[in-house]
Amino acid sequence: MDLNVVTLGNEVLREKAKEVETFDQALEDTVRQMFVLMREKKGVGLAAPQVGISRRFFVTEAADDKPRVFINPEIIETSQETVKGEEGCLSLPGVWADVVRPYSVRVQAQDLTGKIFHLNAEGWLARIILHENDHLNGLLFVDRLPQNVKNKVISKYEKMSHN
Ligand SMILES: [Zn+2]
Repeated sequence: MDLNVVTLGNEVLREKAKEVETFDQALEDTVRQMFVLMREKKGVGLAAPQVGISRRFFVTEAADDKPRVFINPEIIETSQETVKGEEGCLSLPGVWADVVRPYSVRVQAQDLTGKIFHLNAEGWLARIILHENDHLNGLLFVDRLPQNVKNKVISKYEKMSHN
């Protein structure tokens, strides 16, 4: 199976993804391919819906962090404190915007064997986790922007992608 990143306009990006129920070789293969694709495109995170799979899992690899896999993630807690940071998305290539998000997050997820783990993340990694988790609920980073900013970013993206 050859995976490709789907972009804005593809319905799968707007679906609420379903739980992963089977932890098998196929899942492992998909995850491995997602890492390849993410690195190729110089991304720091990639969620299953972005490769056309409406299931609840994503991968991350922040600059000074190890590769991580989150399956059936649950955001347990987020900090009151928020912070603004620049985000882009492989499904909206070429545009970036400042998004306000909680500074830290506590997440529960399963690994490739189905084992549950917990992780406390802050700063950049927290931002990536929250961005990728949004994908599992059909949300894109532009949905977190004030409406006028969102319109501007989307129209810029559409101009670029139709050249
Ligand atoms: Zn994204």
